Amino acid sequence: MQGTILIIDGVATNRIMLKVQLSAAYYHVVQADRLDGLVPLIRRVQPDLVLTAMNLPDGDARAVKRALQGDEALARIPVIAITPQNDQAARLSALAAGIDDVLSNPLDDMILQARIRSQLRARNSAEDLRLRDSTTRALGFAEPVESFVLPAEVALVTRDAVTGAVWRNRLKGHIRHRLQTHQMGDIHLLMTDPVPDAIVVELTRQPNDAGLRLLADLHARSATRHAAIIAVAEGCDPTLVADALDRGAHDVMQSGFNAEELSLRLSAQLRRKARSDRLRDTVRDGLAAAVIDPMTGLYNRRYALPKLAEIARAAAETGHGFAVMLADLDHFKQINDRFGHPAGDAVLMETARRLRSQLRPMDVIARVGGEEFLIVMPNIDQADATLAADRLCRQINGLPFHLPDLDISVQVTTSIGVVLGPSAAHAGRAPEDLAATLFAQADRALYEAKDRGRNRFTMKQSAA
Ligand code: GH3
Ligand code: MG
Ligand code: MG
Repeated sequence: MQGTILIIDGVATNRIMLKVQLSAAYYHVVQADRLDGLVPLIRRVQPDLVLTAMNLPDGDARAVKRALQGDEALARIPVIAITPQNDQAARLSALAAGIDDVLSNPLDDMILQARIRSQLRARNSAEDLRLRDSTTRALGFAEPVESFVLPAEVALVTRDAVTGAVWRNRLKGHIRHRLQTHQMGDIHLLMTDPVPDAIVVELTRQPNDAGLRLLADLHARSATRHAAIIAVAEGCDPTLVADALDRGAHDVMQSGFNAEELSLRLSAQLRRKARSDRLRDTVRDGLAAAVIDPMTGLYNRRYALPKLAEIARAAAETGHGFAVMLADLDHFKQINDRFGHPAGDAVLMETARRLRSQLRPMDVIARVGGEEFLIVMPNIDQADATLAADRLCRQINGLPFHLPDLDISVQVTTSIGVVLGPSAAHAGRAPEDLAATLFAQADRALYEAKDRGRNRFTMKQSAA
């Protein structure tokens, strides 16, 4: 099953026709004929989408949307309204009420299916983001207020400059967004600053239409990947509309340009975009916070140990050498004791910077303890690992550390335990187990370096 769709219509024959169409596309269909009793039904059925007639025996589609918005668990279910033929006013009022999409009778099956797919896709990607971080659930609910969305940068992309100018003039009275116009041929300008929040693309019925090709292109480029995309289709060509939606347009105006309707559809898309941008930021910040040490900006132990396991396992397969180093500052406690904790922090941050400056992009460095750093270097032999460990020691002891608050410099040294791999014994080991073993071996090598007087490294071949 593709998902569950709830049909609401007071007229039995309408429900039956829709049910036949949707069941043929493998949707599970549930029916209702009125507003009354709807919320308990929706809670029970958990539909992925609601398809409702604009006018119901005891209310209308706007009341359906309001009922869903009043319940946090249901607020994100998309609602598509079906308005009577040629009822432009009903269409606009539905969009203004926040209904996710509006179709007019008579329904074209191809357009209906494409619109449903598009709504379900938008819902699924929003749910994906939300699931990646449960803490974002609470944030996802509140609708951003209009002022949060404005002012947006909106690009109009048309075949010729005249159409662009006409659209811009007609839109001006309806929206407060900044408008840029572009011709289909110079879309590289779209990719430069300011990057648009929304892009409106003109589609024509010409074979191999440039607008249609542009839709896929916008999705593939990093600058425009998250922009809201609205296509304006010439005439009411079902294939063109369905094609545009399936190529990633978030919305399509299927009866050509209309300033008022476009402004409502733009607002809805910009609200959706603001919501998903915010979710994406929260997820990204949350993910980063989980693996990065806030003080030094280095990775933490949680990130580094699986990475170590991965590098060791790859080395066991390829036979390429790798080095695991554990660096621990010498007598660091004395720095805290003599100059205070903030001075200790400054030394740790500077240590992180100096160590990182000596590493290659593929090397991994993490802060794994108070004044302890793990460095994993893939694809390195014993000679180069020796040079690297020596360089790291000299990075610390070669130049005194300046303490900015006290305006004094202190001499700092570090000891490093180095373990070289791979070893025949690594083959077939469970990754976590292997990482823990290598870490413990590096720790033993580190203690030998401390024992032998500090400010030096000790190197061993991994034995197990
Ligand atoms: P050794 O040469 O044997 O490594 O001696 P040490 O003094 O460096 O080692 P010890 O483990 O005795 O002390 C480490 C100190 O690091 C103790 C702890 O207070 C301090 N420390 C741990 N984390 C932080 C931190 O984030 N900031 C500061 N300023 N100090 C820290
Ligand atoms: Mg120490
Ligand atoms: Mg220590």
